Amino acid sequence: MTQKKSIKIGIMGGTFDPIHNGHLVTAEEALVQFKLDKVIFVPAGQPPHKEVRKSLDSVERYLMTVIATASNPDFEVSKIEIDKEGPSYTIDTVREFREIYGDEAEIYFITGADAILEIITWRDAKKLAKMCKFIAATRPGYCLKKFKELHVIPNENKEPEPGKLKVYIMEIPALAISSTDIRHRVLHGYSIKYLMPEGVANYVLKRKFYR
Ligand code: NAP
Repeated sequence: MTQKKSIKIGIMGGTFDPIHNGHLVTAEEALVQFKLDKVIFVPAGQPPHKEVRKSLDSVERYLMTVIATASNPDFEVSKIEIDKEGPSYTIDTVREFREIYGDEAEIYFITGADAILEIITWRDAKKLAKMCKFIAATRPGYCLKKFKELHVIPNENKEPEPGKLKVYIMEIPALAISSTDIRHRVLHGYSIKYLMPEGVANYVLKRKFYR
């Protein structure tokens, strides 16, 4: 009798303000490296840690994410955080996906390394670590010193000691592209061509975002 294979999903968390090719390469790399069945992009509704710069309207960020991922059958986009009022906590999001996909599902939460470092200092991090694994995407040259205090285990079979978190680190050269730089480029009239899918770039310009 063949045993039913449990589903492996990646949850790609981010503000995506705006989404760019660095995010897309990250998701594709995670899909391949971790043999995921699919990657679900989850644009943050109200990012819990962002009060200084107001993010673009969540529905617009969601729409840009849909445009960016439309041609890839392995990518989906979820409105789970967009539809929720108040801050989007990762623990609530992962809990909802656990309910949808069941206890057997292997869930990987994928996001930027800086965000991962914040999440693990957050009070519910230990509970969260029991519900999913973390993939931290870094730009080349990113200083990994802070991760040394954590448990960075590139071997899936080894479990971390109690109180430590397992974080997989993925270096993504395309993450030289950043949302901050794109917003800056738009503001100053520089080109954003080839930094993001053409449809998203056109949408940003058409809707006059980031001016
Ligand atoms: P951020 O602080 O805006 O981003 C930190 C860094 O990570 C930036 O360099 C960013 O680059 C990069 N990054 C963000 N998302 C990425 C992704 N999916 N793939 C690759 N790089 C990525 O972080 P954020 O976007 O607001 O938050 C990231 C995720 O963590 C969200 O899902 C958020 O809800 C979650 N989070 C949860 C908590 C919590 O539950 N308490 C706290 C903090 C964050 P770009 O600017 O180019 O994207």
